[in-house]
Amino acid sequence: MPEIQAHAERLTERFAGRVLTGFVPFNFTALKTALPTPETAYGMALVDVGRRGKYLLVRFEPTTFVVHLMQGGRLLADDKLSAKPRGGQARFTFAPAERADGAVDESALLLTEQGKERRAGVWCVTSADAMSSPPLEHLGPEAATVSDDELAALFSANSMRVHGFLRNQRMVAGIGRRLANEVCHRACVSPFANTRKLGAEGAAKVGDAIRSCIAESLAYERSRSDMSSSKDRPSAMHSRTGDPCPDCGDTVRAVEYSGYTVNYCATCQTGGRVLADNTTSKFLK
Ligand SMILES: [Zn+2]
Repeated sequence: MPEIQAHAERLTERFAGRVLTGFVPFNFTALKTALPTPETAYGMALVDVGRRGKYLLVRFEPTTFVVHLMQGGRLLADDKLSAKPRGGQARFTFAPAERADGAVDESALLLTEQGKERRAGVWCVTSADAMSSPPLEHLGPEAATVSDDELAALFSANSMRVHGFLRNQRMVAGIGRRLANEVCHRACVSPFANTRKLGAEGAAKVGDAIRSCIAESLAYERSRSDMSSSKDRPSAMHSRTGDPCPDCGDTVRAVEYSGYTVNYCATCQTGGRVLADNTTSKFLK
């Protein structure tokens, strides 16, 4: 999730050190936990905004707010402080602080989610136990730093399609639908290749692809002043059905599922074989 990582870095730069005065949910689904209460962080300075998998970690001592943006959520600096912000789910308010230019910064942090799904949310957890508490406790190793050996061990222990493996946050954390398509293409493996059959050699190829795809995406996200939306993000395969593959010129193909599309290049990834475009046929491995 390079867009989340770069966004966390921007929020840290803007808000680190600000003293929390309030956490206000705008609807009853926004706060997912009862204890510890948000009040336990009041009066504390923001340590930083971190990331684990797809989650933002708004860190105070002794309490951390774990924020999941889902598809349409945003956590943004809020200067207007309106009583009913559009799409507002929750707001962090801070004591006014003097900026370097002498102006007083009264901005808040606003969690918004467009649409009616209301799936974005906030979990309050004890900072010291954050990684072993819901919702983070079952996440796999971070994709950006997973080693080839760790990946090989996970491949051998979990027999599944590599595209599904990459999107499964319990296997590796931080890869979504776009990166799963990009990583399979970069590694020159079929999205439906079996992880166990890929073995250590396949794990090394996929590991290289994960690192290089994430590094490129992170460089792009860090060049921006705001979080990208999915249509902005550069891709060779993802959402490029019918376009030429940038590596070989073959046509980018698609296998459609209800929630997502697997895009791939037959020449680069499947030895020229075209995978049937439905979920029930026998896929070529
Ligand atoms: Zn190709």
